[in-house]
Formats: sequence, C-alpha cells, structure tokens
Amino acid sequence: MTELGARLSAVDERIADAARRAGRRPEEITRIVVTKFHPASLVRELHALGVRDVGENRQQELSAKAAHLGELDLRWHFIGQAQTNKAGAIRRDADVVHSVDRPRLADALHRAAEGDGVLDVLVQVNLTDDPGRGGVVPEDALGLAEHVLGLPSLRLRGVMAVAPLDEEPASAFARLRDTADRIRSAAPGADWMSAGMTGDFVEAIAAGATHLRIGSAITGPRPDRG
Ligand SMILES: *Cc1c(COP(=O)(O)O)cnc(C)c1O
Repeated sequence: MTELGARLSAVDERIADAARRAGRRPEEITRIVVTKFHPASLVRELHALGVRDVGENRQQELSAKAAHLGELDLRWHFIGQAQTNKAGAIRRDADVVHSVDRPRLADALHRAAEGDGVLDVLVQVNLTDDPGRGGVVPEDALGLAEHVLGLPSLRLRGVMAVAPLDEEPASAFARLRDTADRIRSAAPGADWMSAGMTGDFVEAIAAGATHLRIGSAITGPRPDRG
C-alpha cells in the first residue's frame, strides 16, 4: 500500500472508532479530504483510493483542479473565505459551499445561478472572538440562515466552523451544536454540521459532526506556499 493509502485508511479507522464510541454509525459521517496546496495529481491518487469528497479553500485553486480533473466523479467542497466577485466561479466549480458568512455572499451566489440548478450551502459560524476569522457570530447565524432560505437557488444544508486555537475543541463544538440545533428547528433539512480537522475530528464526531474536513493527516504536510 502507498503511504497515502495507509494514512487514509488509518484516519478512516480512527473516524469509525470515534463514531462507535459516540454511539453513531460511521456511515453517517462524510470524510472530506482537504487538498489545498497539493497538486491535482494527488487528488487523482485519492480518487483512485476511493475518495469522492475533496475540499479547497481558494477559488483559483478550486477552479484549476476542477477543470483539470473534470472527468472524475468528485464532489468539490469550497471551505475558504470567499470574495463576492468570485461567487460565479465558485458556484460553477463547487458542489457545496461551506463558508457562507454574510448575506451579500449568499446573494452573489444566488445571482450566479444558471438554469434551475440548486447549490448546497452551509452557514459558517465564527467560534472565536476575532471578527477577522471567517464566519458569522453565533447570535447572527439564524438570521443569515433565514436569509439563505429566501434564496431559491441555494439549499441550506447546515453549519460549518473551525475550532479556535485557544479553547478546548469540545466546548467550542458544543456551541456550534447549539447553533446547528437552532437552525435545524427553523429548517429541518439543514442537518449537516461541518466540523473537525486533523487535530480535532474525534471531538467533532462526539459533538455530532456530519462532515469532517481533514487535510494533513491524510495528505501529509502541505507544500510551502510562502
Ligand atoms: C486547511 C483546512 C482544513 C484542514 O486542515 P488540517 O489541519 O490539515 O486537517 C479544514 N478546514 C479548513 C477551513 C481549512 O482551511
């Protein structure tokens, strides 16, 4: 087995263990492999190993890889901060946008719709005190979710967050869980919780994450990008 294959199965075993310990079924958890900064060839290798969900955090890199690998059945998850003027390209190349953090971005994604296609989106919640981090503050998350519900070309699927560096992930994810539950009472179909990265996916699974975004534990260290 290749090193990549070995790391992928090791992570998948840890996911399955954590799910069982939390009394959940591993099959209800989607493992997204974050491939940012890595070449398209790595995504191709991952696909050959059975990976179908991949994540990127920059529009240009997403678009380049999606174009290059167009013949593969991959689901592209956009997980980065998005500029409004990139909404058209993001909508064209992503299957899911995890990082809707303001009404203007939701509006721009909606305006970029072509035909009657519907784009899956998540409301990104900022769990830190730093307004420069991506995401809407938890108190405003329901309002943003309601705004998204008013845009027919977007399908609200749930919430996404990154745990702060200076807090136990379990307590941060508990706040996300509360926000997720409030949004789900307004929109029962919005039952995704995108949380958990290399360092905290076990805690995220315990808190109910449905979508994990795992990079370096699977891909190895990211090539330096200055
Ligand atoms: C890079 C990134 C990840 C994956 O990070 P790892 O620590 O390498 O697993 C997950 N979510 C977001 C938003 C990211 O930018």
